[in-house]
Amino acid sequence: MSRRTAELLGKSPESVNLIVLHLGNGASASAVAGGVCRDTSMGLTPLEGLVMGTRSGDLDPAVLTHLHRVGGLSMDEIDDLLNRRSGLLGLCGDNDMREVTRRMAEGDARATLAFEVYIHRLRKYIGGYTAVLGRVDALVFTAGVGENSVQVRAAATEGLGGLGMVLDPVLNAARSREPRVVSAAGSRVAVAVVPTDEELEIARQTFAALPRG
Ligand code: AMP
Repeated sequence: MSRRTAELLGKSPESVNLIVLHLGNGASASAVAGGVCRDTSMGLTPLEGLVMGTRSGDLDPAVLTHLHRVGGLSMDEIDDLLNRRSGLLGLCGDNDMREVTRRMAEGDARATLAFEVYIHRLRKYIGGYTAVLGRVDALVFTAGVGENSVQVRAAATEGLGGLGMVLDPVLNAARSREPRVVSAAGSRVAVAVVPTDEELEIARQTFAALPRG
């Protein structure tokens, strides 16, 4: 993401600070300074952080003991609940953002709540990582939701002009598979959509690790 976004901005990876929002069925936010990840929302496991398709993301740790003591759930049941039956699925019954936004357009209250919780958490991380980095050059959206959901990008950045992030609604709504900038001309922070290519990065790092000669 750092390399591709730097290319897109015409800068070197070492010179750019990025907030990367990887929003797929699993989701994470990262604060990347000069190509080095300073913080990321996932922890010991992918459960921490953002609201995901079926994972809760951040929770009060006391929820675990509460579910055990009051709800009578075993550790395995809690693990299954938080990883496979929470997040968007737990909030509204659908884990696919396309379905959530379709239902929301029809006025479905549970889908609207799920979308709002998802966006609220995302915005907390954008604000937090802005403070972690001090200076942000680009906010980058990637993966299934980040690359495709015009609504998620719009809601996540709405009213963030104070942080220097201003989306261009026309660029945001344009469909493309290419890395692209979707922020307004005057936006201090570039807002970019950069498709993920995890396979290429794995191949690149594997090649770099192979003995030469
Ligand atoms: P990934 O894990 O990166 O493959 O992302 C998968 C998720 O991306 C799906 O569960 C959907 O929620 C989401 N997604 C895929 N296409 C779209 C779309 N056109 N609009 C909104 N969300 C999408």
